Amino acid sequence: MNVLVINCGSSSLKFQLINSESEKVLAKGLCERIGIDGRLTYQPEGGDKAVSDLAMPTHTEAIQFVIDALTDAETGVVKSLSEIGAVGHRVVHGGEKFASSVVITDEVKATIEECNDLAPLHNPANLIGINACEKLMPGTPMVAVFDTAFHQTMPEKAYMYGLPYEYYDKYKVRRYGFHGTSHSFVSKRAAELAGRPYDAMKTIVCHLGNGASICAVENGKSVDTSMGLTPLEGLVMGTRSGDIDPAILEFIAKKENLDIAGLMNMLNKKSGVQGLSDGLSSDFRDLEEGADNGNKCAEIALSVFCYRVAKYVGSYAAAMNGVDMIAFTAGIGENSGTVRAKVCEYLGYLGISINSEANGKRGEEIVISTPDSKVTVMVIPTNEELAIARETVALV
Ligand code: ADP
Repeated sequence: MNVLVINCGSSSLKFQLINSESEKVLAKGLCERIGIDGRLTYQPEGGDKAVSDLAMPTHTEAIQFVIDALTDAETGVVKSLSEIGAVGHRVVHGGEKFASSVVITDEVKATIEECNDLAPLHNPANLIGINACEKLMPGTPMVAVFDTAFHQTMPEKAYMYGLPYEYYDKYKVRRYGFHGTSHSFVSKRAAELAGRPYDAMKTIVCHLGNGASICAVENGKSVDTSMGLTPLEGLVMGTRSGDIDPAILEFIAKKENLDIAGLMNMLNKKSGVQGLSDGLSSDFRDLEEGADNGNKCAEIALSVFCYRVAKYVGSYAAAMNGVDMIAFTAGIGENSGTVRAKVCEYLGYLGISINSEANGKRGEEIVISTPDSKVTVMVIPTNEELAIARETVALV
């Protein structure tokens, strides 16, 4: 079956058409500037990337252009819409309502809408994408795959904050966690690669991209994760602060005369390694180059990032009373041997030792620990689209 995987943002839409038998990507691309002007980037398997400016007042036009591109007589990869068996939609927040992926119905859409205020930037856009696909592909089954679902197995002690209970009761303020599709995919693959039983392993997944989170997976279930009610908590990220003393907010608000919107903008867009490096970059390639050339702030940004990752790994080893495997994934986790080496340096007490030649590789599935290391450390490229396609096929 061919599955169209859709990841819809407020002004953009990423797509991949995946054949579920071969698990090959038949075509992929991106619609950008939806509601502004509109641009489609389309690339069929083995073919050239084509960029075209096309008017996209709404997501419906964007999806129509995606369908046109996929079924185009020359550059398309299917003859007609009937060759697309299902659509898998990434949905960011499923709240406490969704502990797994679901086939989309009117009732499911209403429940996703109920979670809108937990992810006001993402869920409404995800719903717009679902509605546009339903309009243009009536009768094609659709599945929602949630970033939060994998973490619904966390115990109370991990998801409750030290806040008045009434906020949980009234507003469901708690830890939800994100990147669930990636943490699930990578932890499963890690067990496969190590040839060990997924349901009897303690694994820590470090998803280190522009957005970054860590997850403790015990016996195949997420038992703790670093992102919280929102994706702002936890690690120091590209432009997000991660954990800080909450009282800093009042202090800075007074000094800089910032309101809540100003504070949130600072925490989400101006902080993280971008802020720490004094505005140099949120990209680790630039930071590593800067640090190599003696840029002090780039060095600080890198060391703060790695130290925070190591502290989370240590705390999750404690939470699970041990760890068998650590997996690095996403842009930084897959590509930066420097970050992996720095993080693992802190973890010698766990009996971890790293093979520096293996760690020098980038972007490939590989075990980077030595054979005598007490914990198996690996790099596993994540593939959220493939995970969404698999979930979709399993449900339809
Ligand atoms: P997201 O999906 O959260 O946008 P990605 O997982 O694509 O993020 O990761 C993007 C980040 O990966 C970049 O900002 C950059 O910091 C890092 N990255 C990509 N390639 C490399 C590389 N070769 N070396 C170091 N870091 C890299």
